[in-house]
Order: sequence, then structure tokens, then C-alpha cells
Amino acid sequence: MVPQQSSTTSLAAEATHTHPFANSFTGSSVSSVSSVASPNELNPSLDYDVAIAGAGIVGLTLACALQDSGLRIALIDAKPATAGLQQHRAYALTLMTGRIFSGLNLWSQIVPQITTFRQIRLADEHSSAVVNLQPADLGTDALGYVGEHRVLVKALLDALQGAAAITWLCPAEVVQVNFQAESAVLTLSTDGEQQQLRTRLLVAADGSRSLIRQQAGIGTHGWQYWQSCVTAVIRPQKPHGDIAREHFWASGPFATLPLPENRCQIVLTAPHAEAQHWLQVDEAAFLHELNRRYDGQLGDLELLGKRTLFPVQLMQSDRYILPRLALVGDAAHCCHPVGGQGLNLGIRDAAALAQVIWQAHQQGDDIGDAKILRRYERWRKLENLTILGFTDLLDRCFSSQWLPLVVVRRLGLRMMRHLPPLKFLALRLMTGLGGRPPELAQR
Ligand SMILES: Cc1cc2nc3c(=O)[nH]c(=O)nc-3n(C[C@H](O)[C@H](O)[C@H](O)COP(=O)(O)OP(=O)(O)OC[C@H]3O[C@@H](n4cnc5c(N)ncnc54)[C@H](O)[C@@H]3O)c2cc1C
Repeated sequence: MVPQQSSTTSLAAEATHTHPFANSFTGSSVSSVSSVASPNELNPSLDYDVAIAGAGIVGLTLACALQDSGLRIALIDAKPATAGLQQHRAYALTLMTGRIFSGLNLWSQIVPQITTFRQIRLADEHSSAVVNLQPADLGTDALGYVGEHRVLVKALLDALQGAAAITWLCPAEVVQVNFQAESAVLTLSTDGEQQQLRTRLLVAADGSRSLIRQQAGIGTHGWQYWQSCVTAVIRPQKPHGDIAREHFWASGPFATLPLPENRCQIVLTAPHAEAQHWLQVDEAAFLHELNRRYDGQLGDLELLGKRTLFPVQLMQSDRYILPRLALVGDAAHCCHPVGGQGLNLGIRDAAALAQVIWQAHQQGDDIGDAKILRRYERWRKLENLTILGFTDLLDRCFSSQWLPLVVVRRLGLRMMRHLPPLKFLALRLMTGLGGRPPELAQR
């Protein structure tokens, strides 16, 4: 543990000024954060029941799900709370994510600002066999949604506005964690000033490079892909028709996600050097390549904003829990972006963990006890691994030029066209309806 300078100012009190709704914020636990020199000097009464480190979409979803549980919650992020409103990114959202957001009463705000797609078009560069998946294949009225980061963050922040149970500690970076029998002690740093807080349960929602996971000594398994992704937003001349397209090229999958105002988020996966090339070529050459891939079917294309490059990895944490600790979202697992699953898995983690914590709290159990937290791990670890495996298989299978595999996948696509049970199974996985639903999704 790093020795600390005592300070008379509580981080929580400062943090209320950084929250977008600071004026209406009336957090009752504002004065409860101790500024202390070492864990030994902490007041024996716990400061928080749950500390959520990472206020990305997954951390915010968990806070939202727990805000009426009667638990005292600290929400911590290295960035200001409003940073997410500036992030230009869009995600494919599954039907299950829609149900969870609906259970959180966010859906009516979100749905007018996103696209609902009722068709998924799968195509292989080397085959004329296009597979069109429709709601009738699944017995639902839609197949998924595409929403922008800022839209989701805004709805979550609005829902948390004035939540008395939540103390915002943003910006504050978690720099050290110490686990004790009854609590976890976090050292937070803001503008060089360090302070500590203590919590019965720490939830790491701090992304794929989770410092908390590393400090807890939880190992991971997985690999970096040989590919990177270039993302961009375009506006085609012709209507995108609310169709989600996943086209498999030898270099990697190429996804087109329909956004409102006839915009599309594209995710072009290619080996690192080729991805770098598509990041750096001039706009005309990039759009020419996209047009070639669409076979001109979307008409002239306009590039809106900058292209961004992301490395891609598959990662599964060896454990999702330890006494006093639970990992959620990218802190626990990462998958290939093909099929747009990563954030959706994290949102399901948040809903599942909230349910486990809430029930334990109602029964008077210790929410940080590993016995309780294991219910969450058993629920989510295998389900996530299934999706990690599914996305890996899709990418490997469809990015290969090996003739036997090319033949098998052509056959697979043709079979999928004519075998409704195969379509149904693939859609159950892709829409998130295949796993155990959290109670939130059934309201
Ligand atoms: C190219 C690409 C396309 C993708 N497309 C999709 C898609 O279509 N659909 C989908 O479901 N998923 C998609 N994903 C995956 C998705 O982006 C991630 O799964 C998701 O963003 C993870 O959310 P998170 O909240 O767990 O983590 P993050 O969004 O990484 O949030 C972590 C938060 O923790 C904070 N933090 C980190 N360290 C600390 C610290 N020490 N102290 C305090 N705060 C800290 C950060 O500031 C951040 O706010 C895609 C990924 C890539 C790369």
C-alpha cells in the first residue's frame, strides 16, 4: 500500500462538481469518504457497499441496476462523467440488451435515436450464396439495433441523475487496491492528490487492461488477433434499408451497421498492415475500396468524420470473482468484433451481477463473500466463453483461404439458407436470447 498524505477534502465532495447534474445531485453519502493515510487508519465503518471502478457503459448499467437496492454505491472513473457523451462510436446491440435497457426504463429514451434492424445479410466474398436472416427465422419482430455510444451514455446518465445512493468520483483514477477480509481499500488519484476509500465489494468495470484485475493477480487466457479493425461512419447515396451486413472477406469480416439519418458504421477487419493501409490512404481511395466491396449497391459514399484503428483480441479472465471483487465487461473478457457482441456481453454481466448482489442484500448476506459472488461467475463465465468461441470460429472460418475450409463454409452458408433450425440456433446466439436471462430482461 502506498503511504498517503491525509487531506481534509473528500473526493466525493469534489466529484459532485464534475457530475453533469451536479446542481441536482444530492448524494447522501457525499461526506462518507474518508481521506486517510493507510488502511489501518480507516474508520471501521465501511464507506461504501459497492464501488464500481469504470463508468463506461457497463459500469453505468450496473450502477443504474443497483441504484434502488438500498446499497451505498461509489462510481469511479479516471475521466469526467460526461466524457462518454463525446465518444464517436456505434455498436450493434442485441435483443437481450434492448430487454435489459427496457427493464431499466431507459428504452423509451433510447429507441427513437437508434436503428432497429429486421434483416441481417451474410455474404462470403467467394460465394454467391447470400443468407438473409429475418425476424420470422427467430419468431421475433426485430433482429437487433445499432446505437451510438453517446446516446446510451446520455440515457444512463439521465437515469442516474439525482440518485441519492450514488456518489460520483469522476475524474479519479484507481491506482492501487488492497484486499482485506471484510473490505477492499482503493487508492484514488485526482490531479496528483491521493485518497482512499473502502468498500464491501469492488466491481472492476475498468476495461480490457483492467489494473484491478492485474493487482488482484487474476490471470487471463487468449491471444491478439493477426488483424486490426478500421471503423468509420459513412453516408451512402442510396438508403441502407435498415439492413445489418456482415460480409466475409479473405482478409477478415467487413460489417456495415445501419444508423439513423441514413448513416452506417463500418467495421473493416484486415491483417495489421492492410488495416494500417486503409487507415492511411486518402479518403477517395478508401471510399473506392468500400464501394468495390458493396459492388456499387449503396451508390456514392460520403465519409463522415475520421477513421479509427483498433487492435483485436480474445481474452477470458481465469476468474471473474475473488472475495470482495467481481469483474464485468471488458475487464473480464474481450472478443473479436465480428457479430458485435463485446459490449452486449458486458451489459448482461452487469444485469446478472446486479441481480446476484440485490438478492444477497435482501437476504442479509454479505455481498462481497466469494460464495455469493460465485453465483455470478457460474452464470456468466461459460455463457461468455461460448460467444468468445463462436466469434473466433466465425473469424477463423471465414478469413481462411484454405480450400477445404472454403468448401465447408460455402456448404455451411447454403445449408443455412435452407435449414431453418440452423438459422434459429445462430440467431439465438447472436441476439443474446440463448442464455439465461436476467430478471431485469423479463419485466
Ligand atoms: C472495432 C470494435 C468494434 C466493436 N463493435 C461492437 C459492437 O458492435 N457491439 C458490441 O457489443 N461491442 C462491440 N465492441 C466491443 C465494445 O467496444 C467493448 O466490449 C465495450 O466498449 C466494453 O465496455 P466496458 O464498459 O467494459 O469498458 P470500457 O468502455 O473500456 O470502459 C472502461 C472505463 O473504465 C475507466 N478506467 C479504466 N481504468 C481505470 C482506472 N484505473 N481508474 C478509474 N477508471 C478507469 C475508463 O476511463 C473507461 O471509462 C467493439 C470493439 C471494437 C474494438
